[in-house]
Amino acid sequence: MSNQCQLAFPIQQQQPNLSAGPFPESVVVPVNVPLQIKRNVITDDYTLTRQVLGMGINGRVLEIFNKESGEKFAVKMLQDCPESRREVELHWRVSLCPHIVPIIDVYENLYQSKKCLLIIMECMDGGELFSHIQDRGYNAFTEREASDIMKSIGEAIHFCHSINIAHRDIKPENLLYTSKRQDAVLKLTDFGFAKEITTINSLETPCFTPYYVAPEVLGPEKYDKSCDMWSLGVIMYILLCGYPPFFSNHGLAISPGMKRRIRNGQFKFPDPEWADVSEEAKQLICHLLETEPTQRMSITKFKNHPWINLSVEIPQTPLHTSRVLHEEQDVWEQVKDEMTNALQTMRVDYHQIQIKTIEASTNPLLLKRRKKTKNSAMQHPG
Ligand code: ADP
Repeated sequence: MSNQCQLAFPIQQQQPNLSAGPFPESVVVPVNVPLQIKRNVITDDYTLTRQVLGMGINGRVLEIFNKESGEKFAVKMLQDCPESRREVELHWRVSLCPHIVPIIDVYENLYQSKKCLLIIMECMDGGELFSHIQDRGYNAFTEREASDIMKSIGEAIHFCHSINIAHRDIKPENLLYTSKRQDAVLKLTDFGFAKEITTINSLETPCFTPYYVAPEVLGPEKYDKSCDMWSLGVIMYILLCGYPPFFSNHGLAISPGMKRRIRNGQFKFPDPEWADVSEEAKQLICHLLETEPTQRMSITKFKNHPWINLSVEIPQTPLHTSRVLHEEQDVWEQVKDEMTNALQTMRVDYHQIQIKTIEASTNPLLLKRRKKTKNSAMQHPG
């Protein structure tokens, strides 16, 4: 499987900017390697099944078998449009990371007379991260295992950030295990919101500076990466106790109160779940959930933190996580929705920002000034 994935990439490869640390040094990022989208019919090479592996916002992910090897894969079907092409392209560029679900092949085919992209990926039979932990016996999940999981997710983010790709949608549904076995590997998927980070002087930048825009609008590159680091903080918090750091009081997805708590960084480490968790872990969470995005911990600092680089002994303290996840199963879907919505509010894209001309603007200050000028013109004609 991994051989097949490696063969799919041409030879031109480049070492990424990975410095010493607990992450593998041998990782090779395929940079400038063009993705070859196949145009023959997918059924030449694969047998499609009706087995649905998951439902996404953009469609179904189905089980599929390679005709030659008999090996099982997953296929994600997307309508062929610039956004889907960008998803495929960015996902392809990070496909060799051991903690990212690899793309094996991409086909451009007609389906019901519409052009679509079919993305063949490794089949992740182990399900989502937290279902895996919930299935464990009470207290069987320890702080040391939580550290190992965070290291895996950190490795995926480091791989992306080192080639200036921000994922921007790191959440429980997008962290899948290869199998249900003990030695299963955790991998990140779904690059639907991923973005290649360009600098302020890039083509993407508006060609003039508006009078007032928020700092994240002027320099979103900092904010795109910090969004992934915030996700790391939320996932680490849930891993260590079984519930999220910020709650909605009304049962509504991301209530005004929850928005305020996220903005103010209001979260606690309540007992009994946090009583035995190490201070290093709590300190790391605080750095990841730092409210000011420019002050938030970077992925390089994360991988060098003692709780991740294992320069301190991580205690094998049993955690409350599996018990809490089990008891709170009924609100889990809501927890996931809240994280999805919080991430949505954090993403800043230039295409979302429309700069109006002065004439078209309905800014109250401008309207007032316009009225004043008109009145004075009427009072002093000529
Ligand atoms: P979308 O971008 O439309 O949200 P995703 O890529 O997140 O789609 O996939 C939707 C769901 O399909 C995932 O939450 C997961 O349950 C399942 N899925 C995605 N990729 C795989 C895979 N490679 N193997 C198994 N299941 C997958």
